[in-house]
Amino acid sequence: MTRLIFLGPPGSGKGTQAQTLAEKLDIPHVSTGEILRQAMKEQTPLGIKAQKYVNSGELVPDQLVQDLVEERLSQPDAQSGWILDGFPRKVTQAVFLEGLLVKTGQGGERVVNLDAPDDVVIARLLARGRKDDHEEVIRRRLEVYRQETAPLIDYYRDRQKLLTVNGNQSLEAVTTELQKVIA
Ligand code: AMP
Repeated sequence: MTRLIFLGPPGSGKGTQAQTLAEKLDIPHVSTGEILRQAMKEQTPLGIKAQKYVNSGELVPDQLVQDLVEERLSQPDAQSGWILDGFPRKVTQAVFLEGLLVKTGQGGERVVNLDAPDDVVIARLLARGRKDDHEEVIRRRLEVYRQETAPLIDYYRDRQKLLTVNGNQSLEAVTTELQKVIA
């Protein structure tokens, strides 16, 4: 049973790696960012509530993402494992997730920290061209990452759940290292 949480700054390649690994393992890739972007495109109530935050690089309120994660992890396809990408993004969400996984008997999760230096992630984000990839929004997303999300590295290290992978190498090399550390 593979249950993985992917941590890393925006532009570290965690979305691509999470997707690739999820396909190999035949488990769902649960990206909160993707779910939110889809909801925004469809202008669902969730999408309408989330858009001002997503478009400015701020975090969406905990309750919204927590509800969507709880709902997604309760689906039948998530009972044989999952990769969470983009959640948790702050300590309050990590505490929520811990409680949720205990409640639903989905423990044993491990955390992969995909590490990459700032200049590398900024260059990658500028090349990507997503709607929230403008320079100002990128800067804000990195700031939010440092303030809110980076503390999760220590949080999970303290709980002996942390694995680290060097994200500053080719896509293929990251995939290889990733498979090695989770084996
Ligand atoms: P991502 O695709 O993971 O880079 O997420 C894109 C945007 O979605 C972020 O900049 C946030 O605005 C929002 N978002 C995604 N996941 C979360 C989360 N766990 N908590 C709060 N906001 C989130």
